[in-house]
Amino acid sequence: MLIDPARETGQLTLLTNAMVREVTTDAEGRATGVSYIDTRTRSEQKVQADIVILAASACESARLLLNSTSNQHPNGLANSSGVVGRYLMDSTGTTVAGILPQLMNDPDHNCDGVGGMHVYIPWWLHDQHDRLGFPRGYHFEIWGGRGMPGYGIMNNIHTYNDAFAGPDERPKGGGGYGPQLKEDYRRFYGSVVGLSGRGEMVAREDNYCEIDPDTVDQYGIPTLRFNVNWSDAELQQVRHMQETGREILRSMDAHVFGDMPTEEQDYGITMPGEIIHEAGTTRMGDDPRSSVLNSYCQAHDVDNLFVTDAGPLVSMPHKNPTWTIMALAMRASDYIIDQRNKGTL
Ligand SMILES: Cc1cc2nc3c(=O)[nH]c(=O)nc-3n(C[C@H](O)[C@H](O)[C@H](O)COP(=O)(O)OP(=O)(O)OC[C@H]3O[C@@H](n4cnc5c(N)ncnc54)[C@H](O)[C@@H]3O)c2cc1C
Repeated sequence: MLIDPARETGQLTLLTNAMVREVTTDAEGRATGVSYIDTRTRSEQKVQADIVILAASACESARLLLNSTSNQHPNGLANSSGVVGRYLMDSTGTTVAGILPQLMNDPDHNCDGVGGMHVYIPWWLHDQHDRLGFPRGYHFEIWGGRGMPGYGIMNNIHTYNDAFAGPDERPKGGGGYGPQLKEDYRRFYGSVVGLSGRGEMVAREDNYCEIDPDTVDQYGIPTLRFNVNWSDAELQQVRHMQETGREILRSMDAHVFGDMPTEEQDYGITMPGEIIHEAGTTRMGDDPRSSVLNSYCQAHDVDNLFVTDAGPLVSMPHKNPTWTIMALAMRASDYIIDQRNKGTL
């Protein structure tokens, strides 16, 4: 999105097929550029720079910093605090779905171009945490409509038949071929509605990624390994998501698919990383002993190094993170321009 306007300035050189290995530094420990693998030739190349800005996504930027060791930065670049890779967060997630009988047998009509992407219910109980038993909030993303039918949903629909079997209902189990399949689609198409919850994870130091000493990628660059677990805060939040989602669907007379997940099933929470909103690995803060970056995404330890992905996030937004990443990147960019104009960077 921003590459075209940057190109129009005539100041951008875009290097593709370039897999960055590490940030290079000088004898004082300041950043001098990056070294990268040309993925076509597998040769190692270097780029010199006055300022290095990493925006490789939260975990990859942490990997680059941790792989950039030197005499001045033995624990990895910008990592005198030991915080790089720590406080790793993802959004919590779970989904509830059901079939709405009032939407069944919808006459064929053209829905081309109709989308419900990110219609959502924002968090509404921000002043009631005392009674909820968990901190932070979540939202629901609502989905449904007459998209491409999938037979996975049809399998769930058979639970509807099991629950409401009557003389005009389809036999248990149903079928998967021919006229019966077509009949199922005509009857049920567009009648499934789902609520996907996405919420805030609490940032905790003991959730982290680190360099795996035993594994490298295809370019010989050491990879990450992960140590991330949900706490009771996230599990109780997702229990609330499940209970509330079911209540909303039932109030619409839906037949809800599946039983409420139990405590042993972790209330149906996704795996850490599954929602793909990783954040927090190079957190910002005022104290260099407990954070990697300042509020302009500038490394405390290396003044000409910036990180502008979701690594700087100190807490997880309950809404998906990309606009926050963009806002912080804009603020960092304004700061860099200002400092360059003043001659202080
Ligand atoms: C399927 C999917 C759906 C999503 N939906 C949403 C959504 O609806 N809303 C939302 O807010 N967020 C969503 N997200 C999350 C969102 O995509 C990320 O938060 C966002 O893209 C992160 O931006 P970024 O610039 O930090 O990293 P990225 O967008 O991942 O960009 C990093 C760039 O760096 C490059 N790179 C990485 N490593 C290296 C290296 N070593 N050398 C050279 N280049 C490198 C990558 O190729 C990439 O071009 C979704 C993610 C996925 C995967």
